[in-house]
Amino acid sequence: MPEFNPFKIAQAQLDAAAVRLGLDPATHELLRWPQIEFKFTLPVEMDDGKIRIFHGYRVQYNSARGPTKGGLRWHPEATFDTIRALAAWMTWKTAVVDIPLGGGKGGVTCNPKEMSEREKQRLARAYMRAVARIVSVSKDVPAPDVYTTPQIMAWMMDEYEVLVGEHHPGVITGKPIPLGGSEGRGDATARGGVYALREAGRVLGIDLKDKTMAIQGFGNAGQFAALLAHEIMGLKLAAASDSRGGIYNPKGLDPRQVVDYKLKKGSLQGYPGAEAVTNEQLLELDVTVLFPSALENVITESNAPKIKCRISCELANGPTTPEADEILYANNVFVIPDFLANAGGVTVSYFEQVQNTYNFYWPLDEVHRRLDEKMTRAFHGVYQMYQREKVNMRQAAYLVSVARVAEACKLRGWV
Ligand code: NAD
Repeated sequence: MPEFNPFKIAQAQLDAAAVRLGLDPATHELLRWPQIEFKFTLPVEMDDGKIRIFHGYRVQYNSARGPTKGGLRWHPEATFDTIRALAAWMTWKTAVVDIPLGGGKGGVTCNPKEMSEREKQRLARAYMRAVARIVSVSKDVPAPDVYTTPQIMAWMMDEYEVLVGEHHPGVITGKPIPLGGSEGRGDATARGGVYALREAGRVLGIDLKDKTMAIQGFGNAGQFAALLAHEIMGLKLAAASDSRGGIYNPKGLDPRQVVDYKLKKGSLQGYPGAEAVTNEQLLELDVTVLFPSALENVITESNAPKIKCRISCELANGPTTPEADEILYANNVFVIPDFLANAGGVTVSYFEQVQNTYNFYWPLDEVHRRLDEKMTRAFHGVYQMYQREKVNMRQAAYLVSVARVAEACKLRGWV
């Protein structure tokens, strides 16, 4: 399989939008690169008493529209370039839903599955000590991403507050509710994607009730997508997968039971009443909706011609390469692109920050109503651009977002 560098892909996607928008060379160059980036080593004592050195990253991609914002990925394959790409996508994401934030991202190259809770806590605190000078409510606000959890956010918030000697819950989002987390943050990414999918069904004239869906990546985003797409739109769960493989039953699986099984057993393997499928096979199943909800670059030019879904709702960041995008567009697969489809997470993270600032908390139905409003408006903004410019949905989303960020850079007098 060819090597894909997500940051080069993010830059190529931006380049196409910059040309179409007629951006001047300075603005284009500014938006191709992170404004500020940090790389650090994190010595952490492991349970056996030995010190292990982890590599950590934080990228503040663009702050023209507000403090940078973006999750922390703890993954064995996290590289500086993955984090740069994710930080760029965060910039376009906050712009597409029109919230007053910039884009950032961070991470640690590590395998949390092989670490104890105490080791994770020591790593979380070490990470916060390394970035405490560069994050704050008004500078840069981290959040969860792959393999980081509300508990990890809580340890980081606590470490920050110890360092500065004051309460600052808004320095990090995705916290547990008793420590200033927002109602509705847990399922926000999937819920936002499902709202966007509902709007896609409307504009495409597809009644999604009783149609089938397949979900690649059965973690936070994927599990809630299964539950909510079923609850809100009556979609049937035909297949789901995690890093160890997937399960398939075209007649439909009970999403609640599949989620409970995964939470109990740690994997989907052996789920009764379903046949085993690989992650690759899952992507090519004949379903109406596909939710890529795991990692980058899973839909490439080699498998794109075999993708049969009608709508791909990208909850993962960067699941589709630019070559694959063109193939899907030609084959009439409607893609709700990552930084639009999964913007619900950062939107409710933003709500969490707002509530932390006011020290006053909203009920769940208010979070849902505001999220629906943001996602619906963002979807239709991108869809109008798609129709007007006759480009694919990802390019349309880039045109909307890049124009907004470029305008903010110009108004500040940077370019
Ligand atoms: P998570 O850690 O909760 O879950 C990831 C899931 O993917 C796990 O079930 C894991 O087993 C599975 N997985 C890992 N490697 C896989 C592979 N090769 N094939 C299939 N499955 C694999 O992470 P998450 O928070 O659900 O994030 C998933 C995706 O959604 C990421 O791309 C992330 O950047 C994106 N995202 C998440 C949020 C959020 O709020 N959680 C917000 C925006 C975007």
